[in-house]
Order: sequence, then structure tokens, then C-alpha cells
Amino acid sequence: MYNSLIFELSKKGRVGYSLPNNGISGYKMASNLKRSSELDMPEVSELDVIRHYTNLSLKNFGVDQGFYPLGSCTMKYNPKINEELSKIGAFNSVHPLQSEDTLQGSMKVYYELEKALCALTGMKAFTFAPCAGAHGELTGLMIIKEYFNQRKENRTKIIVPVSAHGTNPASAAVCGFEVVVCECLEDGCVDTNKLRSLVDKDTAAIMLTNPSTLGIFEKDILEISEIMHSNGSLMYYDGANLNAVLGRLYTTSMGFDVMHINLHKTFSTPHGGGGPGSGPVGVRSGLEHLLPNPRVCFNGKKYYFTSSKKSIGQVSTFFGNFNVCLKAYCYILSLGKEHIKDVSSLAVLNANYVKESLKDSYKLPISNHCKHEVVFDGLIDKRATTLDVAKRLLDYGYHPPTIYFPLLFHEALMIEPTENESKETLDEFINAMEKIAKEDSELLQSAPHTTIVGRLDDVKAARFPVIKFKDIGKYE
Ligand SMILES: *Cc1c(COP(=O)(O)O)cnc(C)c1O
Repeated sequence: MYNSLIFELSKKGRVGYSLPNNGISGYKMASNLKRSSELDMPEVSELDVIRHYTNLSLKNFGVDQGFYPLGSCTMKYNPKINEELSKIGAFNSVHPLQSEDTLQGSMKVYYELEKALCALTGMKAFTFAPCAGAHGELTGLMIIKEYFNQRKENRTKIIVPVSAHGTNPASAAVCGFEVVVCECLEDGCVDTNKLRSLVDKDTAAIMLTNPSTLGIFEKDILEISEIMHSNGSLMYYDGANLNAVLGRLYTTSMGFDVMHINLHKTFSTPHGGGGPGSGPVGVRSGLEHLLPNPRVCFNGKKYYFTSSKKSIGQVSTFFGNFNVCLKAYCYILSLGKEHIKDVSSLAVLNANYVKESLKDSYKLPISNHCKHEVVFDGLIDKRATTLDVAKRLLDYGYHPPTIYFPLLFHEALMIEPTENESKETLDEFINAMEKIAKEDSELLQSAPHTTIVGRLDDVKAARFPVIKFKDIGKYE
């Protein structure tokens, strides 16, 4: 019964709750509204609904259940105090169209969070309007475009190294730029000679993901910055994965002009499944006037909104995802200045521990120290693919790492343990990975064996998606 679809539980006329007759005679529903029975919706009791969603949630996997080493996604633990504080009615029940006087507390959160991010990065100002990392990239690129517009320069190209996150070239294209790809050297860092040859009068900026998607710190950033700036171009920092460097460097000291951060990764707010995110964009001194409107300011007594005429305008309704910002603010305050650095040291230590422990079973294409994540290129003996390894990990109770990304290696397997995991948890995971490396290839190729749904035909699922209940038939 718990595997029944909610449609199968449906009984004609069954309702979740009923309301007393409202005593208004001649009352009719608007003609464009339909009752659930007319909509072919399941008719079930409240208890059926609760069981349905509770059982669905148990079929899912979350970081509160087990190890979730999904590279590039920073699936760190989300302290419950963040949730508690974000539920406070004073934050929850305000509306952005209320008068400033009644929004002072929420405005203070934005203001103070902005100050904290500036202190961590060296940037002059941040906007919280973007609702995701990629949205932050688009906003940052719009700022870059507007910067050149206002200088009456028409620059049309954005350079993106092959080791960048996939959203970088996509955002540049969406923003109307031409994407120019720059190769990397053997060690995974940007080939600066190549870069020199690509830069020309049309180059608006370079987008650097640092650490790159290979988990490597770009060693020649200062040289890259010199190449770009001497050409009048700007430096964009994809700081979605700030976890590796948190509290250790100023992005401005490396020469970056514009950056975004993913609050929902580094600053611990629940994410995944397309949930709410926040991709604040920071700019160095001299570019603040270009940030989206409105911004929160403080005159020593009162918080107030300002708008700049030279701004790129508005990039989201109101002020982005406030609740995500609030949770990130709680996270920063609970660690404080003294402990925020521990995040990066432990995240890097954990990733290097996994790297060193698995390098005899999994191919390690870049053996230098990694930062917050490590990328393997599948099993050394290639007895099974990375997909097989990932599926088999499900049998051991783990969420698989990111696979087939970055695109630089055929069998990429990208592990990001985060700072939260104990040595015992990492050892258990390493043990499982080592066992898998020795298992029979047929067992791997047909994994998973213990999950509710077995190996799916990905190609068929993508080509012939079954999206209507009626087409599914009985759920086996
Ligand atoms: C996750 C990520 C992004 C995109 O962030 P979204 O919130 O998923 O849009 C961009 N760059 C890097 C390096 C990332 O890890």
C-alpha cells in the first residue's frame, strides 16, 4: 500500500476536510474554477496525504540522512539553529511593500550580511537580488556590459577557461556575449600564454572559477589579472565554491572586479532539487553604482532603500530570497570571525584525505594538493564505468559524487566531502569505494541492487519521458 500512487488511493467523493455550509444562498463558484473531482485529481483523506508525502520524503536522500559528497555542490550540514531563527514571525510575516519603518529588522539583516561578505572578500558592496549562482553570474555580466556601455566601449567577448563551471559560458551567452574558450595546462591551471593570444580589444572579461572545477587553486591569478587589466578588460570571480578559501584571501587582492557567491553552498542553506538559492554579486570599489536597484543603506539611525540612476536596474522581484540570506547570516554569526577559517581548513583537509586514500584504486589525473574537492578519472583498471561506481554506491547507502563533470576527463568522478564529516565517516566511505573497486564487474554494471528502483534506462527516460499518470500503469 505504501508503494501505491496517490491516484490509486483515490475514492470518489473522499475529501481531506469539509467546511460548514457558509449560509450564503445562491453562491456559485466562478465558472473558471473547478472542483478537484472535475480535475481528475486524487480524492483522498488528510491522513492519506500526510502518509503520501511522508513516504515520498523517505524515498529521497538528504544530507541529514547520510554522506552526500556531491562535488561542486557543497552539500554541507545545515545547522538547525538557522532554520529556527528564520522561522521567527518578525521575519516571516513581513512584506517587501511595507513601509521602510516597519522593515528595519529585515533591512538590518541585508545590511549586516553585506558588510560580512565585504569583510570576507574585500569587495566594496554586494547585492542580494540574484536568486541562484547562475543568476548571480548573469547579473555580474550585465554589470560588466553596462560598465563598458557607460564608457562607450563595445566589448563583445568573454573568455572562459575549460576548467570553469558549466554555467559560466551559458551565462555569458545568455547575456549576449561571444564565449571564447581558453585551454588549461597539464596541471589544470589556465594556460596564460594561450590567454595572452586570445585577449583583444573586444574582450570584456574573463570568468574564473576558483578553485576551478578540478578542485585546483589557479596559481597564476596575478598574471591573469595583469593580462586582463592591461587590456582594459575586467576580472570576474565565480566564487560559488568559496568553501575552500573562506576567511583566507581577499578576492580584490587577486585583482577581481566582480564576483558572485553561492550562499546556498558555502554559507549553509538547504539546496538541491531547484530549491531557493541566493547568488549575491559583489563589486570592487568604483563599480557600486552599477549594482541592481534597490540597495539597503544606513545613516547611523535608520535603514533605507536607495536607487542609482546608473544601475543595471532590477534583476528579481523585490530583494531576492530573503530567507536564504537570513540563514546564511545566522551561519556566519554562529561561526564568528575566529572560526570561519576552520571551515576552509577542514574542507581542504577532508578532500585531500579522500584523495590520498583512494589514489591506488581510482585514477588521479592531477596529483597536486586539491582544495575542497578531488576529481578522479574513474577506476584505474576500468573494469566498470564511473556511472557503475556511482550506482553501486547507492547500495552502500551513499549519495554518489558528481559524475562526468568536469568534462575534462572521460570518467570524471568528483568528490566533495565538506568540512562537516568525521574521519570515521570518511573512512567508511573510502572503505566502500575500495570494495567497489574490487567487485565483480557484472555486479557493478547492474547496480543498484537494493534501491526501490533499479538501473534506469537514462536514454529512454530522456527520449520518451512518461509524464502522465495514465501512461504509467501499475507501479511495480
Ligand atoms: C553551483 C555552481 C554554480 C551555479 O550555481 P546555481 O545556484 O546552481 O545556479 C556556478 N559556479 C560554480 C563553481 C558552482 O559550483
